[in-house]
Amino acid sequence: MIILVDMDGVLADYNLGIEKELKKRCLWTPDRNEFKTFYYADNCPPEYGKVIDVIGSKKGFAFDLPSIKGGKEALEKMLELGQEVRICTAPFGDYKITIPEKLAWAEYNIGKGWAKKIVLTKDKTLIRGDILIDDKPKILGIMEPVWEHVLYDKSYNKEVEGKRRLTWENWREVLGI
Ligand SMILES: [Mg+2]
Repeated sequence: MIILVDMDGVLADYNLGIEKELKKRCLWTPDRNEFKTFYYADNCPPEYGKVIDVIGSKKGFAFDLPSIKGGKEALEKMLELGQEVRICTAPFGDYKITIPEKLAWAEYNIGKGWAKKIVLTKDKTLIRGDILIDDKPKILGIMEPVWEHVLYDKSYNKEVEGKRRLTWENWREVLGI
């Protein structure tokens, strides 16, 4: 199989990164395990939108994102099982800063050679694959996707019905590999 794995919210803890930055600024932070909506700013008072935009484009932010437990091991196991694996991620913020940092993040947090396994796109429907593991509730684009969207289980995608869902605890059972 070709397995596409999203980065933010699946391998890299984007929301924890934002929370840490808000705390540095002595700002109130919502409970990120209770989010009802996908975008961090939508779980905050309206004035947070700008601050979060600034944080997202800050030098070092994308590279410093903490990794999500079990992600690296899962990717390694997928390769070991003979699967084709790519990290499929949408760039955010100031691309000049965040794109190189995403590549560096993968090399540093997943392992050497993983920068070459990154597919950067704002439209994941254009990418071929059998499975896309992604935390976003609904993935839209200009094409009818050829992959099956398997949700990475989060509080903000709980409402989605009819899709398989997994975490790095149970992914092998769910995918049957
Ligand atoms: Mg994501």
